[in-house]
Amino acid sequence: MNIILFGPPGAGKGTQAKHLVEKFKLFHVSTGDLLRNEIRKKSDIGKKIVNEMNDGRFVSDDIVNELIKDIVLDPQKKEKLIFDGYPRSISQAKNLDLLLSSSEQKIDLVIFLNVNKDTLIKRIEKRKIIEKRSDDNLETLAKRYDTYMDTTRPVLDYYSKKPNFHEVDGTLKIDQISAKIDAFLNF
Ligand code: AMP
Repeated sequence: MNIILFGPPGAGKGTQAKHLVEKFKLFHVSTGDLLRNEIRKKSDIGKKIVNEMNDGRFVSDDIVNELIKDIVLDPQKKEKLIFDGYPRSISQAKNLDLLLSSSEQKIDLVIFLNVNKDTLIKRIEKRKIIEKRSDDNLETLAKRYDTYMDTTRPVLDYYSKKPNFHEVDGTLKIDQISAKIDAFLNF
């Protein structure tokens, strides 16, 4: 079972991904985490992307596509992938389709966590205190949200026509959202 968790920044994708990883033994593919890890390691990629990340801008497709390639093609992780924060554009969605079909895989479930902007702002303010992420501030969130609406939301049209697409109210309590997602997996 390969799953995409889709939604705006602060929708709770990471929280739900962690729950699914524990319950169904899946591999969490968070491009945000992979990129933050490059910055932490001070790798060449990390040095290249640090400003874009801090400003809430997209990292280039080439870098992100390269980072996920080995994970998607890893036989140990085959059909156990849960994507969080990827794909974020139509070109990334097409890249993912190519990678999956070349390894005889597909996306089995797309879950859209729908959350309104006011709730996102409140959550990001809280997350800033807890996780101390350098891109969690109101100015950067506004930019990330606009990019989401312009570039990422169109990816929904790409997936929403498929039968395995489900929308969940992302303003519900964490456990309620998890229960709804579990039901899609257990049907
Ligand atoms: P996230 O942890 O998913 O909220 O991502 C944090 C930041 O990492 C984003 O604001 C972007 O700067 C960068 N990023 C994460 N995933 C992607 C992606 N798929 N494409 C481009 N940039 C990304």
